[in-house]
Amino acid sequence: MAATLSPACSIVIPAHGEAVGLRHAIETISGVLTQQGISFEMVLIDDGSTDSTWEVIAQACTDYSFIRAARLTRRFGKEVAMRAGLQMSRGRSVVVMDADLQHPPALIPEMLRLRETGGFDVVEGVKHSQGSGLLRRLFFTLNSKLTGVNLREASDFKLLDRRVVDAYLALPERNLFFRGMIAWASYKTATLPFTPDERQHGKTQWSFRNLARLALTSITSFSSIPLHLITTLGIVFIIAALLLGGQTLYNKLSGNAVSGFTTVILLLLITGSVIMLALGIIGEYLARIYEEVKRRPQFFIQETLPKDKEQEPPSL
Ligand code: UDP
Ligand code: MG
Repeated sequence: MAATLSPACSIVIPAHGEAVGLRHAIETISGVLTQQGISFEMVLIDDGSTDSTWEVIAQACTDYSFIRAARLTRRFGKEVAMRAGLQMSRGRSVVVMDADLQHPPALIPEMLRLRETGGFDVVEGVKHSQGSGLLRRLFFTLNSKLTGVNLREASDFKLLDRRVVDAYLALPERNLFFRGMIAWASYKTATLPFTPDERQHGKTQWSFRNLARLALTSITSFSSIPLHLITTLGIVFIIAALLLGGQTLYNKLSGNAVSGFTTVILLLLITGSVIMLALGIIGEYLARIYEEVKRRPQFFIQETLPKDKEQEPPSL
């Protein structure tokens, strides 16, 4: 029965604090799809917004029948909100996009066409790289070296075939990194370049801190290089210790011991910091393991809309 109800396409939109622009986004996106005669549903996930995003969604839901929505109990973050949306989605393809219209809705028909005619399972929106600060550039480069995922160009604007969605949802991990996971799964992928439009309303929810946390997740879930680096660093330190130790002993035996505390203090500071850094890196991995073994649910749903349809699918 579900199969006969499933629309060609689900649009999954995570939203946190998008009250101002959301209505416009819903209308723009649905306008494009309706014009092209594409059957679709729109899955809106309110990621614990503190403004009136949920009211906007509820209103839109009474106005339009294509909307299904869920409100998470608190802000769980975009990654989790996207997962909640994917779980709710029923379409044969699923398009994930932002609520701020930075992902051009006009590309959706093209994405669907690529899936249909080109047989692609994933169509990936790739950002034309925008100018960004030196620190960010450095950070993106380092991250892509470590993980093989280019965070700067990769975006969450993607079309996924139903089987990719199912494969993604079946992943047992709690710590999720959508872009990385889809790239890692390596289904047949087409890329579609786009230039992100300026944010129309509100402001970005991504601080540098959020971005750093995302990078940490991507690194710890895709690479154990930092752990190997610790070993390498240890070896370097042993070699240095042998050389310096030999020299010190030689000096001692030949009667002119190293004088002054400067060397001692410097060595203490350097080794101390390196040990703490190494422990920190190990700690990051340990924390991820701890998160994983707890097996907690990733999110809780406060309420879903529309109420009646949820229990009783409409008869067609
Ligand atoms: N978002 C979310 N939870 C968060 C942060 C953001 O659901 O904790 C949503 C936000 O509402 C938007 C999308 O994720 O639909 C992208 O956010 P934003 O536009 O702030 O990020 P950017 O465009 O800078 O990547
Ligand atoms: Mg945005």
